[in-house]
Amino acid sequence: MVSKKGLAVALSELKGFMKADVSLEQYLTESDLAAELLWHAHMAGDLKEKRVIDLGAGTGILAIGAALLGANVTAVEKDPEAIKVLEENQLLYEGTDEIKIVEGDIRTYHEEGDLVIMNPPFGTKERHADRIFLEQARLLAPVIYTIHKSTTRGFVEEFCKEHGMYIAWEVKRNFPLKKTMAHHRKERERVAVTLYRLQTSP
Ligand code: SAH
Repeated sequence: MVSKKGLAVALSELKGFMKADVSLEQYLTESDLAAELLWHAHMAGDLKEKRVIDLGAGTGILAIGAALLGANVTAVEKDPEAIKVLEENQLLYEGTDEIKIVEGDIRTYHEEGDLVIMNPPFGTKERHADRIFLEQARLLAPVIYTIHKSTTRGFVEEFCKEHGMYIAWEVKRNFPLKKTMAHHRKERERVAVTLYRLQTSP
């Protein structure tokens, strides 16, 4: 993969959720946004030959992108329907068949890695779902790439303070939520999200 644009194009070919489950807050990370997060990780040397865990992998856009950039990826996801799509997506690009898929709740996954990447539920349906993801992520790896609503930055900062971590990088973007859920009224509602690289303090 030679460029961020190339990566974004490759990721835009992937299938998304067949029927998004509202209670699980399933939404597909938009391909440009996924490419931006992954490209930053790539340039920072966080992906190549690293053990990367994708928590709540969904249909696999982050897992597949990381694999395309040379990471050894484990994808953890509890929804079997999403996993079916992830497996179809794996057929699209060579090398991504090596992604290890673990079906189950992220809270039951305990194998450590070098890095966690995730686009967790924002916690609007299941309260504190984002905290559950951060809690699990920090137990698994010293570096976390994650995406949150920009309005919850205070919470992310506080979480880092509480756990001896810091925000090493962040960038704010508008995230087009595709209309995959009934309660998203407008076709392409945009929500301000922040991409983060969180890291354990030395
Ligand atoms: N990472 C994907 C999907 C993001 S949506 C992407 O970027 O496109 C969040 C995903 O987390 C959904 O697929 C949902 O099924 C999954 N999920 C939510 N809670 C979970 C839990 N406790 N354990 C495992 N997966 C969970």
